[in-house]
Amino acid sequence: MAVFKKSDKLQGVCYDIRGPVLKMAREMEDQGEQVLKLNIGNPAAFGFDMPEDMLKDIIRNMSAAQGYCDSKGLYSARVSIYQYYQNKQFSNLSIDNIFIGNGVSELIQMATQALLNSQDEVLIPAPDYPLWTASVKLAGGNPVHYLCDEEQDWFPDINDIKSKITSNTKAIVLINPNNPTGAVYDKALLNDLLGLAREHNLLVFSDEIYEKIIYDNTPYTSIASLCDDVPIITFNGLAKTYRAAGLRMGWMVLSGKVSLLDEYMQGLEMLASMRLCANVPAQYAIQQALGGVQSIDDLILPGGRLYQQRNMTYEGLNAIDGVSCVKPKGALYAFAKFDRKRFNVDDDEKLILDLLKQERTLLVHGRAFNWPDPDHFRLVFLPHPDQLTPAIEGIQRFFANYQQC
Ligand code: PLP
Repeated sequence: MAVFKKSDKLQGVCYDIRGPVLKMAREMEDQGEQVLKLNIGNPAAFGFDMPEDMLKDIIRNMSAAQGYCDSKGLYSARVSIYQYYQNKQFSNLSIDNIFIGNGVSELIQMATQALLNSQDEVLIPAPDYPLWTASVKLAGGNPVHYLCDEEQDWFPDINDIKSKITSNTKAIVLINPNNPTGAVYDKALLNDLLGLAREHNLLVFSDEIYEKIIYDNTPYTSIASLCDDVPIITFNGLAKTYRAAGLRMGWMVLSGKVSLLDEYMQGLEMLASMRLCANVPAQYAIQQALGGVQSIDDLILPGGRLYQQRNMTYEGLNAIDGVSCVKPKGALYAFAKFDRKRFNVDDDEKLILDLLKQERTLLVHGRAFNWPDPDHFRLVFLPHPDQLTPAIEGIQRFFANYQQC
């Protein structure tokens, strides 16, 4: 009998955050074990609610939201996005160049599918949020990873980027604030990146989904606010800052030298219309999110839950002999290094599975983020301290005795 196989297009396309490690955790749960899943940055799962006014707006508009809308999104929601970025000094904005999607995830796929041919290369950070690498591959392009430097607060290594630009490089991806490292880039670095984009005619994709989740008063700049002569697409959404991942709401905004993007826009418009439109009820939350008084400050300032949990994680991981972690300045994750030699590790995924079996805590191995060596892991610090403290103690216990055979 004929067997159905996955398509060749999927060869080499990986998204391990929800991969084999999660499968094992589910099997354990099926057997009645309680597993703490620190693999996914889903605020609602850890008691963070979306602002109530956003929820009210969705409910109030539900009856008006039964039909399809424009493929790019509701006009009123796109006006709010437009005004938001006008205030941030983005150049050459137009409501027509704003697309609303079912999460940033859908827009990343549209942006890469519309752009790439088989020889085209896209520069992506290592470590990365792996959807970028997977989407570039699926779109038929070649992901080329540039290194971020742990010794330099995980800032991208400009010389490494330079050395990887070729005549086939079409675009560069920037994740700022960064998942998984928590880095927040300064203006000097962003200007250096713009210099490279200008010189080599690159499109900049800036994934800013953690834009407002920033600690220690670290200054934040969106790269698109710094220039008008480079084409830039900025991605953002409701999943993280507004704790509404389940709404699946994201947007992308073209700015800067948009005159170079006319033909590409036609491709984006076609892909947007092929999926008809994004979820309509959820779009009614955008105006309230961007235009109102919503603020995440009570969570990220000293004393706030995320601030405390970030500190506990940073201190708890650094207290482990053979483990170290750069202090995250933004986002919801710690990306920690372990001493491979000391723990005799060849396979970081096995280490994560061993930890899961021993401590019933699920993390993600560093290579799932396209980090080249098996010597890192990522932890989501969303759980309440009541859950996070024992989880970190479990990780401490695990490393105190671990040897991979
Ligand atoms: N970009 C980054 C950097 C992320 O970390 C995530 C989710 O974790 C996404 C995009 C996906 O966002 P959304 O839920 O809007 O699809």
